[in-house]
Amino acid sequence: MSIPFQDYYEILGVDRKASDKEIKSAYRKLARKWHPDLHSGKDKEKAEEKIKQINEAYEVLSDKEKREKYDRLGANWRAGEDFYPPPDMGDFHFYTGTDTTGSGFSDFFEAIFGGGFGRRARASRPRGAVRGQDVEYELELTLEEAYRGGEKTLQVSSNEVCRACAGTGFEERSFCPRCGGTGITPSMKTLAVKIPAGVTDGSKIRLKGQGGEGFDGGERGDLYLKVRILPHRIYKILGSDLEVEITLRPEQAVLGDRVTVPTLDGPVLMRVPAGTRAGRRLRLKGKGLPYRGGRGDQYVLTKIDIPEHITAEEERLYKQLAEFKKGV
Ligand SMILES: [Zn+2]
Repeated sequence: MSIPFQDYYEILGVDRKASDKEIKSAYRKLARKWHPDLHSGKDKEKAEEKIKQINEAYEVLSDKEKREKYDRLGANWRAGEDFYPPPDMGDFHFYTGTDTTGSGFSDFFEAIFGGGFGRRARASRPRGAVRGQDVEYELELTLEEAYRGGEKTLQVSSNEVCRACAGTGFEERSFCPRCGGTGITPSMKTLAVKIPAGVTDGSKIRLKGQGGEGFDGGERGDLYLKVRILPHRIYKILGSDLEVEITLRPEQAVLGDRVTVPTLDGPVLMRVPAGTRAGRRLRLKGKGLPYRGGRGDQYVLTKIDIPEHITAEEERLYKQLAEFKKGV
């Protein structure tokens, strides 16, 4: 999520190293210039917007702590660019494009200073409950786990609203020592997840209320687990069909045979017809993955290999065959 970055130094037209006195003087000059009472019509609207920005910039830059926090978080951004709250602020800034709190401050300000600075501002600007963020994780499953379903425990990290400062990032007049001023504390939790049998690659499992913590009484977001099926040692996954390879000896291919083939339901005996060539795809109907109430198929791809070592008896028989072929 991004919000437009506000360059408070640029708004006040001062250097990043400006002293308190310079900031105050710049603010006074601009506040006089853009006082809405001195403008009318379209200019008045513009002035109102300007004065809001100027006040906000001054609110931050005239306050030592706010300015430090702003410098720390906003150093690499320029006005007009989209601001992505840095990772150490967590996922906890749910502010959307609009001024949902009605505070008169920009979303950027709200994101950094947590919807009002400290308790004073919070108390004077009540805000509605905000629902926690939805969080998405990738859940890696083996083909067998996806097919059979079952329960799996996994560890997920989640950001909780800091208990010490209630998410404001500040205690009294300094940064909250518990969360370092971010208003959130990371934590790990263990979840037992029920995996429905037959989940497919890319499908999502929803865990209601396991997402980000809500704010001011808002309900928790949801956790989505996006299933990714890991590559398998013997099965190739082709949509809802599976493919395995079997290797036949020359005489099996020529004469036909019954061979044991692995399937997700366990080994089955499959008939290989006489005269089977390499690269043939034999089908085991309904032995694939669940698909729209039914099941896909399993294909068995044939390979023929020449034995490297043969017994004396086998050699004699091959020679006999060779002799016979010469006579034909
Ligand atoms: Zn804190």
